[in-house]
Amino acid sequence: MNARDSELVVGMLIKHGYKLVDDSKKADIILFNTCSVRQHAEDRVWSEIGSLKKRKRAQGKKPIVCLIGCMAQNFQKKAFARSEFIDLVVGPNNISELPGLIETVLKKQGKSLSVGKIKRDSGVYNTEYIEDKLHCNVIIMEGCNNFCSYCIVPYVRGRERSRPAKDILNEIKRLVAKGVKEITLLGQNVNSYKFQISDSKSQIVEFIDLIKMVNDVEGLKRFGFVTAHPKDASVEMFKAIAALDKCKKSLHLPVQSGSDRILKLMNRKYTRKHYLDLVKKAREIVPGIRLTTDVMVGFPTETDKNFQDTVDLFEDVKFDAAYVFKYSPRPHTKASDMEDDVSMQVKKERNQILLKFQKQLHKKRIDG
Ligand code: SF4
Repeated sequence: MNARDSELVVGMLIKHGYKLVDDSKKADIILFNTCSVRQHAEDRVWSEIGSLKKRKRAQGKKPIVCLIGCMAQNFQKKAFARSEFIDLVVGPNNISELPGLIETVLKKQGKSLSVGKIKRDSGVYNTEYIEDKLHCNVIIMEGCNNFCSYCIVPYVRGRERSRPAKDILNEIKRLVAKGVKEITLLGQNVNSYKFQISDSKSQIVEFIDLIKMVNDVEGLKRFGFVTAHPKDASVEMFKAIAALDKCKKSLHLPVQSGSDRILKLMNRKYTRKHYLDLVKKAREIVPGIRLTTDVMVGFPTETDKNFQDTVDLFEDVKFDAAYVFKYSPRPHTKASDMEDDVSMQVKKERNQILLKFQKQLHKKRIDG
């Protein structure tokens, strides 16, 4: 999501006469497009901003330093107190204001803040800049209503909003006309995509309708999507993946934990059994489907037994790839009220065990 947002911001600034330089040392404006999903990601940004100290102290106003993305929304005006080098703080739904705000900061001394819009202006997506000429990400929905107890996304990206199907298809057609062959549809929870064209119920476009329309775009060779939530995954979705010739036969389905007790505490709204049933159906309906997942270790109160449940689930599913994360408390979230009682050392150990186990399982599968 942030990679695509960065392209949109660069495209917007190019439209306003700015140039992208290949080295931040040459830049008059430096934008940090940030993620708040884990503490570690935020720590890295503060350290990068801190590394500009010499330049900011020596040159004064330039480079203009902008904090954008989820950290901007999370910290808001506190970001200025946290680092004296930040000139501009702009939340993810406010990025259309960036060119104007940069102008203001360039002309006047002083700092500027713009956060909290509920929804983006649709014009944000009408930019021409893409990094990879053959593949592009296309945002279909933003925000999330799921409130998983560890996750900051609903607080910084806002509630779920689906973009009009027409706008999405036009964006894809424009990209295809530029030579893009493959796209990835993006959203925090793509399979809850829903856009109502008019008041009539029959005029609702849901995720499966949308991917059928995307499949029909002339000139597009392939498409995929991330991220699907297990609670919204269905047999109909698997059938669509199987039937649509341009749809990649792969599915990223974050499980987060193999323990029902932890899943409940995480507010994931499915059980281990439900997840395993989904995997079984997906493999029946889409033979050879590539399955990947996200997992979190060290959620508060996670015992050795709960962790072992996750290891066992890995053994059962045999994912093609897995991203394993260590829990860190995030502000605003329900889990942050719980004691972070699994030590960092245990989190690290569980992380390593799972990664190693996943590697072994994958090797076994490849070796047959
Ligand atoms: S589904 Fe859960 S983990 Fe994913 S963005 Fe929404 S709240 Fe966060």
